[in-house]
Amino acid sequence: MSRTVYVNGSFVPEEAAKVSVFDRGFLFADGVYEVTSVLGGKLIDFAGHAKRLERSLNELDMAAPCTMDELLKIHRELVRLNEVDEGLVYLQVTRGAADRDFVFPEGVAPTLVLFTQSKTLIDSPAAKKGAKIISIEDIRWGRRDIKTVQLLYPSMGKMMAKAAGADDAWLVEDGFVTEGTSNNAYIVKNGRIITRQLSTDILHGITRAAVLRFAREAQMEVEERPFTIEEAMDADEAFTTSASAFVMPVVSVDGAELGDGTPGPVAKRLREIYLDESQKVAV
Ligand code: PLP
Repeated sequence: MSRTVYVNGSFVPEEAAKVSVFDRGFLFADGVYEVTSVLGGKLIDFAGHAKRLERSLNELDMAAPCTMDELLKIHRELVRLNEVDEGLVYLQVTRGAADRDFVFPEGVAPTLVLFTQSKTLIDSPAAKKGAKIISIEDIRWGRRDIKTVQLLYPSMGKMMAKAAGADDAWLVEDGFVTEGTSNNAYIVKNGRIITRQLSTDILHGITRAAVLRFAREAQMEVEERPFTIEEAMDADEAFTTSASAFVMPVVSVDGAELGDGTPGPVAKRLREIYLDESQKVAV
């Protein structure tokens, strides 16, 4: 069945959706995006994603396509039209279409595109098994706090992981892990959860914020600091967080098995708490 997608003010069948070849998202990766998960037909942490979208737009001096209230309505309508019970809403805003020039165009309307993906997220076989991680060098640009559509290197990172028989890659800069290709990275040692502090080096994960809040509320110890791959290989357990995978246990790092090589108790508990708590306030 064809999906209904949203393009610049209209809900249309995916085959009929069109964006200009002069769109700066296409020509310059001059665009930002958000991915919001849907559980039981409701949006998880929409307010967090809307706030980060506003921040990304501001940092790039890009016009907002509409108000965040209107965006919420579009998200909800798309979920309804596509009968999404469990899955994702992908949203992208670009600086719009203009004759190709490195200088930002003036007075051009931003492009707004949204589509849904129905998929099983809670009972994911990957989460039951846990992820095998390899480390690769982080050669991305220096404003990783802005959620841009420049995803070629993360995509190459996933391919490097696949070629190595692993599931994902963690990125390492100056000897320390920054984050995963599409997630934030954590290790657990002696019951203490360790994850890199927020800066321009990493994306300020919406799931990260929620999970750290739930961990602290559950009296778990959290330390926000950089860690090395050697520390990760020696950790009791590890995990990642993202809107599309929630809390994903990590079972090995660069071939070193963590704990008994199965998802660890802290990751499993945080996944449960996150799923329970975030669904209670879903919209
Ligand atoms: N870090 C990177 C590089 C990402 O691409 C993502 C998600 O796409 C995250 C972290 C996790 O962010 P969130 O929890 O908001 O999905």
